[in-house]
Amino acid sequence: MAKRREFTRNQREEIVERSKRGGKDIRCEGCGQVLGAKPYEIDHIIAEALRPEADKQKRLTIAEGQLLGKSCCHRGKDGKTNKDVRAIAEAKRRYDRANGLKRPKQKIPSKNDLRTRPERDPNKGLPELPRRKLYEARDA
Ligand SMILES: [Zn+2]
Repeated sequence: MAKRREFTRNQREEIVERSKRGGKDIRCEGCGQVLGAKPYEIDHIIAEALRPEADKQKRLTIAEGQLLGKSCCHRGKDGKTNKDVRAIAEAKRRYDRANGLKRPKQKIPSKNDLRTRPERDPNKGLPELPRRKLYEARDA
């Protein structure tokens, strides 16, 4: 598998400039919000993990990237990353199913299985600590 392509420093700069839309403020290319000092990330519009090998042989272009505000559009529950992660997992499941790679289900050990295992002593090999009395008579 070809590895994930990253944007070059120059490409990231071009994307940042593009997000300004001719103005001076960096804007989220997802929702258009002016980000100011808020953190942003350069996102692969199509997640690299979802790209066919043929695509990954080509050079990455800035048209394949977008600047997203970290809190508004990229991370978070409904953010792009979360959606990508779900799509990637689904694609893997689909691939495995199609290729007969599904992992057999693991047996959940029953209480009985657990009982037959030898008991482990966490203090094995350690010197025994001196015994202490629970109650000691106070000197009057
Ligand atoms: Zn946004």
